[in-house]
Amino acid sequence: MLEHNLDEVRRRIAKACVAAGRDPAEVRLLLATKQVPAGRVAEAVRLGATLIGENRVQELAAKDPVLAPLDCERHFIGRLQTNKVNQVLRYVTCVHSIDRIDLADRLQRRLDTLDQAVDVLVQVNTSNEQSKGGVPPERAETLVRDVARHDRLRVKGLMTIGPLAHDAGQVRTAYRMLRQIRDDIAETAPSNVHLDVLSMGMSGDFEHAIAEGSTLIRVGSAVFGSRRRE
Ligand SMILES: *Cc1c(COP(=O)(O)O)cnc(C)c1O
Repeated sequence: MLEHNLDEVRRRIAKACVAAGRDPAEVRLLLATKQVPAGRVAEAVRLGATLIGENRVQELAAKDPVLAPLDCERHFIGRLQTNKVNQVLRYVTCVHSIDRIDLADRLQRRLDTLDQAVDVLVQVNTSNEQSKGGVPPERAETLVRDVARHDRLRVKGLMTIGPLAHDAGQVRTAYRMLRQIRDDIAETAPSNVHLDVLSMGMSGDFEHAIAEGSTLIRVGSAVFGSRRRE
């Protein structure tokens, strides 16, 4: 089942890339593994998954004994509380959800102590839905600049969670907005900021995200099946 689902997702990615005139190599597949037991995640890695994303520090910790030895990169894609910063850095190479400066401050402080660096994405709320994290679009540029002043944070791009809408037009508008924000910021960005990554698109809508320039899609239920509600 897992193998079949993964093949199906890869086929959808390839098709969306052809339709958009893009090279499939430009689009990374991140498997969103919340609520998925570590053994199943390990199976996905054996089937070729190279990148997984968790949205809770607790789950990262619980699955770490199984996942740490595997050849697979881990990212943090959920809402990050400042008091979880020290812990999350044990497990991940990239945090997708920087949406306020105090998070950057806390990461910088801890990374100073560890003498390490981490990749980060600035999360933008493109849907105007209160339940979603992310900085409002009009504050994205300022936040990127402020985060970039932290020399242990490597700003790699932007992330957004698409709207719940079933209306394709609304979904496309949100993803197009993220890309536009990226293009605008990139023109005047500090030289240490390379906004190559656009983390956008999930199981139900990643074709739209790919059409709008996504370089990293985050897919959970299309591979692992539906989850219980959180
Ligand atoms: C769960 C999750 C996803 C994947 O959602 P699916 O609809 O299951 O593909 C993507 N991004 C984030 C931030 C998530 O928490």
